[in-house]
Amino acid sequence: MAEIVLDGVTKRFPDGTVAVAEFDLTIADGEFVILVGPSGCGKSTTLNMIAGLEEISSGELRVDGERVNEKAPKDRDIAMVFQSYALYPHMTVRQNIGFPLKLARMDKAGADAKIEDAARILDLTDLLDRRPANLSGGQRQRVAMGRAIVRDPKAFLMDEPLSNLDAKLRVQMRTMISRLQNRLRTTTVYVTHDQTEAMTLGDRIVLMKDGVIQQVGPPEDLYGRPRNLFVAGFIGSPSMNLLPAELTSDGLRTSLGLIPPTPRLSAALRRDPPRKVVMGLRPEAFEDARLLQATGEKGGRLTFTARTDIVESPGAEKYAYLDLDDPGSSQLVARLSAESPVREGEPLELAYDPARIHLFDPDTGANLT
Ligand code: ATP
Repeated sequence: MAEIVLDGVTKRFPDGTVAVAEFDLTIADGEFVILVGPSGCGKSTTLNMIAGLEEISSGELRVDGERVNEKAPKDRDIAMVFQSYALYPHMTVRQNIGFPLKLARMDKAGADAKIEDAARILDLTDLLDRRPANLSGGQRQRVAMGRAIVRDPKAFLMDEPLSNLDAKLRVQMRTMISRLQNRLRTTTVYVTHDQTEAMTLGDRIVLMKDGVIQQVGPPEDLYGRPRNLFVAGFIGSPSMNLLPAELTSDGLRTSLGLIPPTPRLSAALRRDPPRKVVMGLRPEAFEDARLLQATGEKGGRLTFTARTDIVESPGAEKYAYLDLDDPGSSQLVARLSAESPVREGEPLELAYDPARIHLFDPDTGANLT
């Protein structure tokens, strides 16, 4: 097990592309950290620098306090699991999983015990004599993980390991990886571009854009206190609603009406003189006002009415896409309970708690609340 420290790590490719800039992060021993961000933001390059597959241009990489910038990949004692499983087609599952032990010249009895242990954890016991061609995608990925586990490495690096699997299998594998992590507690750095995977798997998320870290923290921090507009828009599904607004001495002027100063808004107003802002409200901040009236539970919520454009009903909830009657013809999405009688083409009264409003600077994107 290991602590991994990236200290001002930068990758500049020969053509001048800066793929990763001044990356600072301390990954604690046993921690599960997710690197997430849009395509091309530098996730894989960061992982490859930790693995030693990509040279570090400047900065320092330390594993358990030791500088490893110049250490060859095979000497770093770090196991990598890729999106393509890279299994040997002519070998059985048992031989594939045991391959690193064979390379390390472990005796047969010791190797068999380790292979069987890994197979048990990964639910592969009945498949040990099969070849990769006769396995499903999810089973192949589990074999690839088995090969990483038997080495007892200091750390696991995983680069989009689930992206070749269908949606249902991805969910199953996600829970398997969580179980594996709870059991092994090996330091893991996991790359994905899928924010749901990031939110459900990691102890901490590192959200990157254009080679630069935007925010680091537990999932609930990135969701509840996004540092800027990029984080606010990337984390959460459907994405946070962002509407133009103006902070004035009377409160916040918005397409949803004038919102009287809440403690959070007042604090922003005290810091910043009247100004234009971007207001953020998550789709799940809204409720169908009719349901609240039925329970008589309105406490502190504000309401507004909008025209319903489209309604999606994926099962346990409903997504209502609404047109606002403002100069910019803004649109909004509300995530409502399945009980909501919302209908396409009809006006809908929505209620929300103004304490859930986020305010952002329209120029810098910084969160002002
Ligand atoms: P994806 O999710 O698409 O895999 P990523 O976040 O993993 O993307 P990287 O593969 O790390 O991104 O790439 C980061 C940036 O570095 C991109 O702009 C990419 O085009 C660039 N890049 C990658 N390899 C090279 C190279 N060998 N030479 C020049 N630029 C490169």
